[in-house]
Amino acid sequence: MNITSIKGIGEKTAALFDKLNIADTGDLLKFFPMEYDLFGEIVTIDKLKEGETAAVKVYITSNPLVRRIRSLSILSFNVSDGHGEMNIVYFNAPYLRNSIKQGEECVFRGRVTKRGNRFSFNNPRKYKIEDYMKLAGTRQPIYHTTKGLSSSAIQKAVRNAYEAEIMGGAEYPSSPLYDTLPSDIIEKRGLMTYSEAIRNIHMPGDDEMLIRARTRLAYQEFYEYILNMSRLGTHKEKNPHPMIEVSDTVRLIEKLPYKLTPDQLEVWNTIKNDLTSDIRMMRLVQGDVGSGKTIVAILALLMCVSNGFQGALMAPTEVLAMQHFETVSGMTKEYGLPFNPVLLTGQIKGKARNEILESVRTGEVNLIIGTHALFQSGVDYKDLGLVVTDEQHRFGVLQREAFAEKGIKPAVLIMSATPIPRTLAMILYGDLEVSTIHTMPEGRMPIKNCVVDTSYRPTAYKFVTDQVNAGNQVYIICPQVDSGELVGVENVTEYSEELKATLPASIRIGMLHGQMAPAKRDQVMDEFARGNIDVLVATTVVEVGVNVPNATLMYVENAERFGLAQLHQLRGRVGRSDKQSYCIFMMNEASDRAKERLEILSNSNDGFEIASEDMRLRGPGDIFGIRQSGDVIFSIGDIYQDSELILWAKEDVGQI
Ligand code: ADP
Ligand code: MG
Repeated sequence: MNITSIKGIGEKTAALFDKLNIADTGDLLKFFPMEYDLFGEIVTIDKLKEGETAAVKVYITSNPLVRRIRSLSILSFNVSDGHGEMNIVYFNAPYLRNSIKQGEECVFRGRVTKRGNRFSFNNPRKYKIEDYMKLAGTRQPIYHTTKGLSSSAIQKAVRNAYEAEIMGGAEYPSSPLYDTLPSDIIEKRGLMTYSEAIRNIHMPGDDEMLIRARTRLAYQEFYEYILNMSRLGTHKEKNPHPMIEVSDTVRLIEKLPYKLTPDQLEVWNTIKNDLTSDIRMMRLVQGDVGSGKTIVAILALLMCVSNGFQGALMAPTEVLAMQHFETVSGMTKEYGLPFNPVLLTGQIKGKARNEILESVRTGEVNLIIGTHALFQSGVDYKDLGLVVTDEQHRFGVLQREAFAEKGIKPAVLIMSATPIPRTLAMILYGDLEVSTIHTMPEGRMPIKNCVVDTSYRPTAYKFVTDQVNAGNQVYIICPQVDSGELVGVENVTEYSEELKATLPASIRIGMLHGQMAPAKRDQVMDEFARGNIDVLVATTVVEVGVNVPNATLMYVENAERFGLAQLHQLRGRVGRSDKQSYCIFMMNEASDRAKERLEILSNSNDGFEIASEDMRLRGPGDIFGIRQSGDVIFSIGDIYQDSELILWAKEDVGQI
């Protein structure tokens, strides 16, 4: 069903949904919540605890007051519930003044902080009492949003879509609720039916139902993936671009300012063998962040180019592509390499783009670096011998298809920063051979970690200031973009404003998140990489591959909300030079369990080990909202978390 057939969705809203790639009810029902917010029962003010998220039912006892501090506007007023009084504060929302009335009775929900000896909520959500009563005790889904389309609007649309489709009958194969899994598998694995799973993932009954819904949907993703993979086949192809060893790579290795690690050398040797063998290379190199995968890729591309073929290097983001381009251009000049590189991204348009395409077609350029724009139609290579895909977790399937359409068969090298054990790699990567860089380059100082609660924040800010004054740069990570979705969770927008008001005015603060236009995002990342921004307040979009060696502090707010493997990836953004680097994991909702979990990061440097330990420590109720791996191929399944389901799916696909 087209999405406009759902109650309350017209053309305008449909256009917003389109931005989230949702065109029909099927897309909508597969648009899974990113997490769930558990609404607690109302508590009295005297029972509040700092750091907790809580709801209070109160009278507003004073009219709102608006003050300004630099660029920040602060609206505040008092409330009381007969058991105590507290303060309510809103930042940069002076317009709320008209909707706050002394004497009004309502519910506020937010994270409890303390100002002096008084409790306070910053930017709480306000509810009519009867509205909150309906929510208390339930888990509400939270969706990724886009400007103009809130999570609760999406929630409503999903409910209506589900109602409409279930009425239409889930037993028809054309229904988006139709169960495609064979019934013997459903029975054998004790899975929920598909329509039950969809209902519970969006409208959870209790926690157990939610867990079962998630299991079913994750299983299905793996099942379908493995099934498609098995259809692709695993036959080996003849090498269409056999190469010979060249002296350029030997010379480059000699000239590098560092010695390659034994693992880098071993992987490089394997790649050399692949490129010279009779069989087309299909190799995945996995290695933790900072293990030095880039130089291995550059060596492979150098060998390719010296053999007279073109090479391509694809990065997941424009910033990373640009950075690779600069690295390669710099090395070309410094070491006299035979590269003639060009940068090709979606942002390059018109005449410039045509000129680039022409030089790719004629073979004038021999190394093409860019984003997925490299595979778009109109890009015709003269003789592409090797394509390297960096930080891409789509396992090369898509690219292979894109190339097959172009009728070319380059050697394929994929770099991944989320190492997984061999058994899983063999299942998920199909016909890719896997090599692993286990060890880090020598001389890296271990990153110093600390796990703290909010009472440490002033010290943390002092530390940030000191780092900047010493000429270093800082990342601060918040879980969400603005105050819209999760109550009591730090967000990039307000946080960077508050930070500007708190830190010395000389410190240059930038902001980065996924809802910014890609061009703007690139610009900010570029400014940070060039040292024109001292402190970058960001969501986890910084997780992917960018190398800013001058950044020495990774400071994560609400660290308790992140999967440890993800924190480990974030940590990999610092410690990339010989300077001492640091991580601050700030627990906004501190607990012994959160602390114990986060301490794992201090004791291990192995991404997979960290994720497994994390799983062991967390209860099943914790699985929502905490994703371990940053990979994008599975929307609900998680390679780290669901390895058992992957094994099931493999076994079940094998039996049909
Ligand atoms: P990743 O594996 O995360 O892609 P990079 O390739 O970006 O890591 O490498 C991280 C940093 O380590 C870079 O600054 C790179 O120049 C440096 N590096 C790579 N290999 C070595 C080595 N063998 N010894 C010292 N430094 C190295
Ligand atoms: Mg990298």
